[in-house]
Amino acid sequence: MGRIGVFGGSFNPPHVGHTLAIREMAAAMRLDRVLVVPAATPPHKTLAPGSPDAETRLALLRAAVAAIPNAEVCDLELRREGPSYTADTLETLAARYPDDRLVLLMGTDMFLSLGEWYRPDEICRLAEIATAHREADNPRLHAQLEAQADSLRRQYGAEVSLADNRFVEVSSTDVRRMLRFRCAETYLEPAVLDMILERKLYGTGEDLRGLPFDRLRAVSLSLLKEKRVAHVIGCCETAVHLARLWGADETDAARAGILHDVTKALDFNAQLLLCGKYGIITDDFERRNWKLLHSRTGAAVAREIFGENEAVCDAIYWHTTGRADMTLLEKILYISDYMEPNRDFPGVDELRSLTETDLDAAMLRGFEMSIDLLRREGKALGTDTVQARDFLLKERNHA
Ligand code: FE
Ligand code: FE
Repeated sequence: MGRIGVFGGSFNPPHVGHTLAIREMAAAMRLDRVLVVPAATPPHKTLAPGSPDAETRLALLRAAVAAIPNAEVCDLELRREGPSYTADTLETLAARYPDDRLVLLMGTDMFLSLGEWYRPDEICRLAEIATAHREADNPRLHAQLEAQADSLRRQYGAEVSLADNRFVEVSSTDVRRMLRFRCAETYLEPAVLDMILERKLYGTGEDLRGLPFDRLRAVSLSLLKEKRVAHVIGCCETAVHLARLWGADETDAARAGILHDVTKALDFNAQLLLCGKYGIITDDFERRNWKLLHSRTGAAVAREIFGENEAVCDAIYWHTTGRADMTLLEKILYISDYMEPNRDFPGVDELRSLTETDLDAAMLRGFEMSIDLLRREGKALGTDTVQARDFLLKERNHA
């Protein structure tokens, strides 16, 4: 009797997180072969807009899997009509390989939600279940996994393994973002990257320099997490309003506003990759407070990918911390980000009305409030914000 791993997913696109998982799980679970099964219509999600068709995703996956011994792509789900349910797939495979034992491999998210899948009892009857996690990396998640494993054993008599192997924490969504930022090399097998670029997939064929505003807006919003879209639109509209009020360039304000958080969705590793690619030197403070990095990487992407002018890029660069002697556009973006209509905190209304009458007073209030907040939360204080405040204080005392 052989042991056959079954590894499903949308692989949109397949990345090194997938290939490493296949290799590691094959060893950990003593598998003789692994079937990699791309889903036609994943029941758990709809595919991102602009995703390649099923045949193209199949070709990408074949390229990704080609280098892994004993792994092969199985297009069973693509050939089937309607949504692809794991239970149905396992049933077909069990009939196809009656003398072998199936081992269903899955990520931790999937594993934790297995109880809500279609026919979990059938899944557990037809296959062993295996997921991978490093206890040392996240003990809390590990405890959740153990609890879920117990529950599956009790409820369905499942045979469950938690493998403790290496894996790369990367999502296809982030890979698609990094493709847009031309910085996805480390996430993709070389053959997969070549095919993506050659066929101009995932928007890689589009020149993003100097886009008309509507297209810029659509691309920028598509790179955000859903929950940040309203904030970015609010910030953009506020910046345009303030630009009109205080005599700054409205076009620059709109473009800086819509792009200011364009790299915000990326995790620490992706931020560092962008820093490396675009020559951004990070200091200790920035690495410890890495959420600030999105203003640095956002400015670099605005310049290199979207071809924006220096005024726009500088405004994005300083939008989280501020600095001494800011330009009018920098002030406008900083304060719009702070108090756009979706923001809600004590004093926000007062701050909003201050921007209508005295922009510098509003800036000063903004700096004071964020310095105050960081102090109260016991967080490290960057020098830029303190210098920004001190500069404005001095300027006002001399006036
Ligand atoms: Fe931001
Ligand atoms: Fe923002």
